[in-house]
Amino acid sequence: MQTAEVVIIGGGIVGSSIAYHLTAAGCSNVLVIERETAQGKGSTGKSMGGVRAQFSTPVNIQMSLYSIPFYASFEERLGHPSGYRSQGYLFCATEEKHMAYLRTNHAKQVAMGLKAVRLISGDEIRRMFPQLRGDDIVGGSFCPTDGFVDPYSAMIGMMTWAADHGAKLWKNADVIGIQRDGQGIAGVETTKGTVFTRKVVNCAGAWAAGIAKMAGVDLPVEPLRRMLVPTEPFDQFPHGAPMIIDMSNGFHFRPEGLGFLLAWNDPEETPGYKTDFDPGFIEKILTRAAERVPVFENLAVNPKRAWAGLYEMTPDHHPILGPVQDLPGFFLANGFSGHGVMHAPATGKILSDLILAGKTDLVDASLLGLSRFAEGRMIEETAVL
Ligand SMILES: Cc1cc2nc3c(=O)[nH]c(=O)nc-3n(C[C@H](O)[C@H](O)[C@H](O)COP(=O)(O)OP(=O)(O)OC[C@H]3O[C@@H](n4cnc5c(N)ncnc54)[C@H](O)[C@@H]3O)c2cc1C
Repeated sequence: MQTAEVVIIGGGIVGSSIAYHLTAAGCSNVLVIERETAQGKGSTGKSMGGVRAQFSTPVNIQMSLYSIPFYASFEERLGHPSGYRSQGYLFCATEEKHMAYLRTNHAKQVAMGLKAVRLISGDEIRRMFPQLRGDDIVGGSFCPTDGFVDPYSAMIGMMTWAADHGAKLWKNADVIGIQRDGQGIAGVETTKGTVFTRKVVNCAGAWAAGIAKMAGVDLPVEPLRRMLVPTEPFDQFPHGAPMIIDMSNGFHFRPEGLGFLLAWNDPEETPGYKTDFDPGFIEKILTRAAERVPVFENLAVNPKRAWAGLYEMTPDHHPILGPVQDLPGFFLANGFSGHGVMHAPATGKILSDLILAGKTDLVDASLLGLSRFAEGRMIEETAVL
């Protein structure tokens, strides 16, 4: 029978980051199990690649303060590009209550050590981007070290580094069962055979609740469809632009290739494993795009290039990280609620610390444990895109 010190279920960006961090910390017998024939077919390959530290809760800010510099120095450390582009995130407030919210968040972000973030006036936004309809913009918040990465490249870079240093990746291997005994986790059953291990990390993204169930654990992670629309080449808006967020309705966009990538989270979407792109979404998003950026009336969109993927949502929009109290050896890295790419580096470090040393300095991990739901300790993050 195969044995591994740690088995990671799911070879997306989170599983790859944990494999990298464990291996870099000296754990040489790590096995990543991925059911698809290639990595990236879950949510990672569908992501918008946005990375930001402009959050409202300390724990999310802390995770970004580790992750963004990690992406910035990725190529030096791992010899592979992460595609990090520090073009920033610009939140545009259209109501005083948005501005009050941004001011509160800004104070927290600065107190936690985020130096580059600044509040800006409506006039400054109008000067920066005269193409925006700016009559209702009362101000905003801009952080130039926020930006974008290439999620696929970052995932491959971390997994390749780990594999070069002793980790193994099984592809085309479906996890079909988890064995437990009196000590806790005892092994993982896959379509390629059973692996003996005392430590398993659930990194199965939107499918994580099913994996937890195999271990007898109830995990509150639900899939929620999100759709993205890339445009055809378009040169009437600057390509050096940040991610721009219209706080009046949540529409946001960023440059991508010669065009732009448009996003809007439809509040009518309901949970479920829906990964088909709904063509009716194009009109909804183009209406919002042209409302905020009048020249976007001239955008051309090919519906065949648009796509849908799944967010992994938790009840408080924060990830569920760390050991499961009643099942020794079972670790969770799930429920990123739209932030799994930007928080994958921090998650890798936190899980590696918790698995190898039983503690971490990066965050107060007790805040993010599964038991918070049963104990009524949810942490609400309202800055969800
Ligand atoms: C449209 C869209 C836009 C997004 N934009 C952003 C963004 O701008 N910034 C950001 O940070 N995040 C964004 N996200 C969220 C982000 O993509 C996810 O949080 C992140 O990719 C989660 O990574 P993961 O490795 O946990 O999951 P995944 O990438 O889904 O990987 C999980 C893996 O587990 C495998 N698996 C499942 N079940 C089994 C099994 N039984 N056996 C073996 N393997 C199994 C799957 O095949 C999959 O490869 C976006 C998501 C979507 C859908």
